[in-house]
Amino acid sequence: MNDNLFLTQEKANKLVDGYVKKVALKDFQRPFLHQAKFFPFQAHTGTAGQVRFPRENPPVMELYARHFASPRFIKTVRHELIHYFLFMDKKPHGHNKEFKEWSCRVDAGGTYHHEGDEFLYFRGYCPVCGEIKRIRYGDDEKQMTCSKCKHLGFEIDNLFGMNEIWIKQADTARKNIIDNPRYIVLLPDGSYLRSEMSQLLLKVPKETTSTMRSAYVTSNLSKALKRAKRYSGQVKKYYTADHEFIESPYIYQCKECKRIERKDSPFLLNHLVCGRCKGEIFIFKGIK
Ligand SMILES: [Zn+2]
Ligand SMILES: [Zn+2]
Ligand SMILES: [Zn+2]
Repeated sequence: MNDNLFLTQEKANKLVDGYVKKVALKDFQRPFLHQAKFFPFQAHTGTAGQVRFPRENPPVMELYARHFASPRFIKTVRHELIHYFLFMDKKPHGHNKEFKEWSCRVDAGGTYHHEGDEFLYFRGYCPVCGEIKRIRYGDDEKQMTCSKCKHLGFEIDNLFGMNEIWIKQADTARKNIIDNPRYIVLLPDGSYLRSEMSQLLLKVPKETTSTMRSAYVTSNLSKALKRAKRYSGQVKKYYTADHEFIESPYIYQCKECKRIERKDSPFLLNHLVCGRCKGEIFIFKGIK
C-alpha cells in the first residue's frame, strides 16, 4: 500500500506545516513560527482556510485538505499568512486596505471564494530579478519581457513540485469555466448585486454586497443584462469578477458612461481608456 495515498492526519499535518513554512520564507521572506494543519479530513467547512488567534494559546493556521492539489491552495496559504503577519506585527488583521495591498504584492488573490479563474493563470517569475507576473494559460512566457529589469523570458513557478498535478486538475476546471459561463452584476460603486437568496437568509436590507459569497450569480446572460440595466451596473464574467475583486481593489469610474474599472494600482488615473465608451477621463473612487 502506498503511504502517500493514505496519509494519516498526523502525517498530513506535518506535510502542510512544512509547506506553509516554505511559502512564508519564499514569498514573504519571513518565518512562519507557529503551526499549520488541515481541518479534520471529514470536515465540511465553508472556508478554504483560517488562522485562529486564541487568547491563551499560540496562533494556528487551518487549511482545507481537499484543496491541497489545486492551484488556488497556495493562494489560500498566502492569504492566511497575510492575516498571520499582520497579527504578528500587532496591526489590524482583517481584510483591510493594507491586507489587500499586500495581497496584490504576493499574488494571494481569488481566495475568498471556491470558484475563481486561478485555473486560467500560472504564476510566473523573472529568473533575474524575481518579479512576479500572472501568466494566462496558453500565453508564451518565454516571449514576455520583465517590466522591472527588461529580461526576456519568464519561468513558471513550480510551486514546490506541485505544478504537474495542478496543471492536470486545471485542464478539467478550465473546460468547466469555458463551457459553463456564469455572470455577476457589478454596480457603479464597485460592489456587486446581492443574490435574493442571501438577502433572505441574512435578513439584510441592502441590495449590494462586497463579498463574492453573497453575490447574485447566474448562468443566464439575458437575465444578468436585464438586472444590470435596472441597477445601472455592468455584467461581468463570474470568474474574472472574483479575481478582480481581490487583486484589483482600486476603483476607477469613467466620467462619461459611469462604467467601473477595477485595477491593481492607484496610479493609473491618466492611463485608462474606457472599455465601453472609449472615454479617457476617469474618477478615482478609492479602494474597496
Ligand atoms: Zn481572510
Ligand atoms: Zn526582471
Ligand atoms: Zn465610458
